[in-house]
Formats: sequence, structure tokens, C-alpha cells
Amino acid sequence: VGARRLDGAGLAARLRAELAPRAARFEARHGRPPGLGIVLAGQRPESEIYVRNKLKAVADAGCRAELVRVDEHATIDECRRVVQRLNDDEATDAILVQSPLPPGMGADAERRLFESIASAKDVDGFHPENVGRLVQKRPTLVACTPLGCIELLEREQIAIAGCHAVVIGRSDIVGKPMALLLLHRDATVTICPSRTQDLPQIAANADILVAALGRPGFVTRDFVKPGATVVDVGINVLTDAAEVARFFAADSPKQRSFAQKGSVLIGDVHPNVDEVAGAITPVPGGVGPLTIAMVLRNTITAAELRAGGAAA
Ligand code: NAP
Repeated sequence: VGARRLDGAGLAARLRAELAPRAARFEARHGRPPGLGIVLAGQRPESEIYVRNKLKAVADAGCRAELVRVDEHATIDECRRVVQRLNDDEATDAILVQSPLPPGMGADAERRLFESIASAKDVDGFHPENVGRLVQKRPTLVACTPLGCIELLEREQIAIAGCHAVVIGRSDIVGKPMALLLLHRDATVTICPSRTQDLPQIAANADILVAALGRPGFVTRDFVKPGATVVDVGINVLTDAAEVARFFAADSPKQRSFAQKGSVLIGDVHPNVDEVAGAITPVPGGVGPLTIAMVLRNTITAAELRAGGAAA
């Protein structure tokens, strides 16, 4: 039978439908729609897709979405001037700098740019002030991917309080905020960086296992307690036939899709986890669409808060 599918794509569609009237109410009250500005440096194909999806979801819900492109070889100061322009723009409520930035901008470019975004417009929740507020469990804009994961767990009525949650990965973007959101909901949380010893044994204690490490199919069935809930945050593109064959049976839909397109998506979780997990997020169609829906929700929340009203 396999694990229950946690349908992120379906929930994302419902969330978008719920959020559109909130955007309309804001526009009726303030004479303009909530506005999101996305800064995209360079032309990485994956980033192009993510940005296109975010702009579309936000525009479809009745918000204003603006894309500002920055040249691949631009300096960080040029990027900061773009962010500053959006900071100063009254009709822009939310700003997102798409990561990763081109490597030429330097190792700390992401942090420097994220902290140049006005904290009230920081739709990704990466600004140190918003991260601090999250740590202290104060209301704030929270990173969209972990926020989407929590929304899915709650709407699917997966119990969080009192459970043991293991988060594999500790990035500022996913792992750390995910761990904090679970902790704030009274889970006992274990965070695993790459030097963790005995990772499979630790993971196999989890009632909720979050895989956010960026390694295709790394989390195999021996990492998973029977019946556990598995949240697969990873998005990895396989283009090598031998690698695809390592994960997917010859006659499987993934293999057919690979034969047609020359690439296939896989998460950080191995397909054989399906045999032991109680519930699991698919890739694609799990966490990814929820991240996009949360960009929309945070855009509207930022607009409401900037306008002085309580976020609904
Ligand atoms: P990242 O910045 O590369 O961080 C990866 C984290 O995983 C690091 O903390 C690293 O530990 C840890 N790690 C790597 N190998 C490990 C191992 N063998 N055992 C334990 N921990 C290990 O990646 P990220 O930005 O968090 O993204 C993670 C994955 O999620 C990627 O596949 C990415 O594409 C995906 N993602 C998806 C969405 C979405 O919307 N669905 C959004 C964002 C990211 P160290 O700190 O010790 O190096």
C-alpha cells in the first residue's frame, strides 16, 4: 500500500484560494494591491523556474509582482542599490532576493544582501532581526519553506507536541527555522549537521523526520521508524541514466518521464522509504508548492502589517 501521501500541491492550491480574498480586502481598503519585488541575479535555470512560479502565484492571487533582474556579473553594491530602491518604494510590501547568488559576488554576499532588506519587507524571514524574533517566538515573517512544512503537518493533523522530530540539515534557510518552528510547537527536536555520528540510528528515533540536506535519495528506509511522518524538502535533478536506475525501477513512471525529458526530480529521501513511513511528502508536489504559497501569504501579511492593520 505504501505511505500516506501528504499532498502539498493540493494544499497549496487551497491556500492560494483562501489568500486571494485577503489580497482583495487589502486592495479595497488601501487603494492598491499588496506588492512583492523579487531580485534575481544571473540566469540559473532552476532559479528562473522558482521565480516564475512565485511571481505567477502572487499575481494570480491579485497582488502586484515585480521582477528586477540583475546582471550575473553585477557587484554586491549594485544589488544593494536595487534592494534599497525597493525598500524605499511605498507600493512594495515584500522583497525577496532569490538564492543562490552568482558565486562571483563573494561568499558572504547572501547574508549581506538579506540584511539590507528592510525587516518589515523581508518576505523570506532571513533578516537577522526576523530570525531573532523567530527564536524568541515573537510574531514575525518566517522562512517560507519551513512555514509550508508546518502548515502541511498541521492541516494533515500530524501530532507535533511531545513527539521527537529529527531535522537533517541546519541551513539558515530550511533546517534551523524548521527546528525552531517544531520546538515552538513542543516537539523534542534533534538537529543533525553533516558531521553527525550514527545518523541512521538517530533518524530512526523520529516520529517526524525532516530531510533537508540536498543529497538525492540519501535517506533510505533504515533511517525511518515504521509509521513515522517524513517531510522531504530536497529537490535534486537527476540527469544520469545510471543514477536514475539506482533509484527507480525500469518500468516506473519516473523512468518513463526520464526517457521523455532527459531529467527527473528526486528528493533527499529514497523511494524505498515509502514502504516503512506512515506518511510522506512526494517530490515534486510536496513541499515545493507550499513554499510558493507561503511567499504569497507572507507578502499579504507584510502588506497588512505595514499598513498598520493586524495580519488576518
Ligand atoms: P544547504 O544550505 O546546502 O544545507 C544543507 C545542510 O545539510 C547543511 O546544514 C549540511 O550540514 C547538511 N548536510 C549535508 N550532508 C549531510 C549529511 N550527510 N548528514 C547530515 N547533514 C548533512 O541546503 P538547503 O538550502 O538547506 O537545502 C536543502 C535541500 O532542500 C536542497 O535539496 C534544496 O534544493 C532543497 N530546498 C527545497 C526547497 C523547497 O521549496 N522545496 C526550498 C529550499 C531548499 P553542514 O552545515 O554541516 O554542512
